[in-house]
Amino acid sequence: MSASTNRYDVAVVGLGAMGSAAAWHLARRGERVIGFDRFHPPHMMGSTHGDTRGIREAYYEGPSYVPFVRRAYELWDELSELVGQPLFRQTGSLTLGTDGSLQINGVLASAREHDIPIDYMDGAELKQRYPAILATDDLVGILEHRGGMIEIEPALKGQLDQAAKHGAELHFDEPVERWLPQDMDDVESPIVINTAKGTYEAERMVVTAGAWNAGLVGKLNLPLLVTRQVMFWFEPRANPEAFEVGALPFWMWERGPQDFAYGFPNVGKGFKLGHHQPLDEVDPNGYNQEMTAEDEANVRQWLERTFPDVGGKLLRAETCMYTSTPDAHFLIDIHPKRPNIVLASPCSGHGFKFSPAIGEALADLSMYRKTEHDLGLFRVDRFVERLGEQASQTSQPSQTAAGD
Ligand SMILES: Cc1cc2nc3c(=O)[nH]c(=O)nc-3n(C[C@H](O)[C@H](O)[C@H](O)COP(=O)(O)OP(=O)(O)OC[C@H]3O[C@@H](n4cnc5c(N)ncnc54)[C@H](O)[C@@H]3O)c2cc1C
Repeated sequence: MSASTNRYDVAVVGLGAMGSAAAWHLARRGERVIGFDRFHPPHMMGSTHGDTRGIREAYYEGPSYVPFVRRAYELWDELSELVGQPLFRQTGSLTLGTDGSLQINGVLASAREHDIPIDYMDGAELKQRYPAILATDDLVGILEHRGGMIEIEPALKGQLDQAAKHGAELHFDEPVERWLPQDMDDVESPIVINTAKGTYEAERMVVTAGAWNAGLVGKLNLPLLVTRQVMFWFEPRANPEAFEVGALPFWMWERGPQDFAYGFPNVGKGFKLGHHQPLDEVDPNGYNQEMTAEDEANVRQWLERTFPDVGGKLLRAETCMYTSTPDAHFLIDIHPKRPNIVLASPCSGHGFKFSPAIGEALADLSMYRKTEHDLGLFRVDRFVERLGEQASQTSQPSQTAAGD
């Protein structure tokens, strides 16, 4: 078959958390979808691996995220049914910090605006309820009962399987090397996509390449900062029961500016946590994917001040990448110069929980150029001038990274 006969309604570039979700929604709406990935997801080279991701509803990053995450909860339930396996485990979600801190205030604001039931606890109550935590008197915590965790690899595989079931053609281990509009002068021109294996044509394109996004739309000069992060799994050296599901929720702990960690109760593979490493900018095509002695020393030092019973045997460590915007909100929008291309960089360390809802929004934008989801915080024109408009704001990359 001549390569030029490969014509599709929409090409999805990058089949990680977001691209697999977009492919699923597009294919089940009857679109002729082709998807490409550089590797074979789920894999360990991008941002979607490591067993679990946290999900919470009283979103400290802004009350406008709440309806979006509520839709994601519905879709996680639906996907669980479709794949015949529960993908979400409700453990509660505990935000720790000091009174008046960014995250504590943010959770309170979202809970108030959206009537989300929460328990507000002082240091003494935290000490009593969560013996795993070294609770100082100035520590406060907010428990949100509906929070929990998503099993990421089965979730990602489920989205891909659903996309394929509805006819999406998924090309793994086939990176997109180049794309060009068929007619450069026509802003709505179909897109010609080149890989090492062929040439493909699509009426529209969705770019969901995670840490590689900025390179795929290089001319836009998007201020996306890719950083190396490390996840650790420890065996508690004492009181293991205090780290089990039921005794400890999914938690996030802000101890000060640039001093943030999050983690999960032990579900049989160890106590997993990640300590943000916001300064470690990397090239996604080549960075140190091994844990270093410094990584381990830093996290052990952090644990001594927070979960002193944990610093036992390190069972496992994996690196992963955050792709962050300067304000830590997502980027989900129509390409500023080409309305048949949709861009999604929903990471900044907290995007996974939204993936099925983001996939739905991407399918809407690609098919109808609008969506009922509120994507106001995620507009591309906060960074790049839209065709025929002035940019509302231009920003340079900073070290900001949101959490979980
Ligand atoms: C350590 C860590 C902890 C996190 N914790 C949480 C959490 O608790 N809760 C939460 O909600 N979020 C969390 N996040 C964020 C979340 O994991 C990300 O937002 C999400 O995984 C991003 O998905 P993605 O689809 O954008 O990227 P990816 O899943 O990385 O997908 C991008 C894909 O594009 C492919 N690709 C790249 N270039 C090309 C090309 N040229 N052609 C074809 N394919 C290409 C890649 O191979 C990759 O598969 C965390 C992230 C990390 C790293």
